Amino acid sequence: MNKKGHVLNAVLLSIGLGYLLEPAGDETTFIRIIEVGTPVVLGALFPDVDTAFGKHRKTLHNLPILVGFLAFPYFFGNLEYVWLGVLTHYVLDVAGSTRGIALFYPLWKKEFGLPIGVTVSSERATLMTTIVTVAELALVALVIYRVPLSAVDMARQSLGV
Ligand SMILES: [Zn+2]
Repeated sequence: MNKKGHVLNAVLLSIGLGYLLEPAGDETTFIRIIEVGTPVVLGALFPDVDTAFGKHRKTLHNLPILVGFLAFPYFFGNLEYVWLGVLTHYVLDVAGSTRGIALFYPLWKKEFGLPIGVTVSSERATLMTTIVTVAELALVALVIYRVPLSAVDMARQSLGV
């Protein structure tokens, strides 16, 4: 996807995350959207820096980069949620566009993508971006609301209550 698509994806994802994490719809939701959304948008813009140096869809579009952003907050105490922006960028490039990305670069230069993607310049690129974002939010909602419930159910069953 192009920059517009990645920004649209990150902004929509951030608004959805804000409501999933703080469903009240008041200023706590707004503050959460800003808190999560700013690093997510910055993270979503980061991978395409490899258009300026390195190899596009390889140098900054791989799992070691994502793991680095995931680990960063644990070691340095900042950059929380940037990994989520990087991840959603990868998902949009893999699922939403035809080319895919080199997930295992530099070990393996093969670019992985799903056959459902559209070209970056396609008229349907915005629709595809929206569909991918809604799917991501549905997955997050499942994690937030379903996983804790099933964990409670498993604990309840193991206790026999
Ligand atoms: Zn990209």
